[in-house]
Amino acid sequence: MSQGRFRPVALRQVDAGDARDAGDVHHPDSLAISASLLHHTVTDLCNVLPEEGVGLWSGHGRDVRTWTFLPNAAQDRLVRYAVQPQDWIAVLRAVSSRGEIPLALVHSHPTTPAVPSDYDQSHWHYPDLWCVIFSFAGETPQCNAYKFGK
Ligand SMILES: [Zn+2]
Repeated sequence: MSQGRFRPVALRQVDAGDARDAGDVHHPDSLAISASLLHHTVTDLCNVLPEEGVGLWSGHGRDVRTWTFLPNAAQDRLVRYAVQPQDWIAVLRAVSSRGEIPLALVHSHPTTPAVPSDYDQSHWHYPDLWCVIFSFAGETPQCNAYKFGK
């Protein structure tokens, strides 16, 4: 499977106490997220299995502070995700009102690995965001993060 224009980047799990300096300049190419936020994300995505789930991580710098689960508007939610424009606008407004920036579009692969599909790559509408994929294909959820571009 080609990973095309997506390249893998790192996710670092941090304790709540470390969050303040987690996204420092020494780790410009990784996102930092707390265990509890990671757990919240996995739980929401797990709840919509066997369908794909989608949502947004937002925060400050490279620190993920908020997870927003979004309705999957795709017709075939078993293998696709889509976000309605009005939902996208609403979440961006909410992110902005908290003084945060959008960091990563998160979606799940219920039965396939945590790598961008060909469809993911050809339908990526968020060049400024990281692409984070949770796979539920194995015994335990796997998570990978990718950055779009070279
Ligand atoms: Zn996908």
